[in-house]
Amino acid sequence: MEDREYSLCACCGARLDGMPAYTLRVDLFADGGPIHTSEAEIVRDHGDEIRWLLSRLEHMDEVEVCEEESRVFERFTFSLCSRCRRDVHGALRDLATRTIDRACEESWH
Ligand SMILES: [Zn+2]
Repeated sequence: MEDREYSLCACCGARLDGMPAYTLRVDLFADGGPIHTSEAEIVRDHGDEIRWLLSRLEHMDEVEVCEEESRVFERFTFSLCSRCRRDVHGALRDLATRTIDRACEESWH
């Protein structure tokens, strides 16, 4: 029996060998947003807070560090078959449409 790795669709599990395949990459990251601060906050001594953060990091194991990092940034990459690409495309298009519709509704009220 041949020991060979196959690429599979992340959604339906179909083999992608010889089929058109698509890559779906999703970046999920914290939106920094506007920073609301004051001049007093900027010039304040932040040394104790930085030392506390460093101490906290030193006492975290690798899993805890990865969990904290994932709150800030995560990247997911999936291989999809053409049928699942179409389904994901439709779901993303619907989400984008709803988001745009909601933004338009809010701007009119
Ligand atoms: Zn699929």
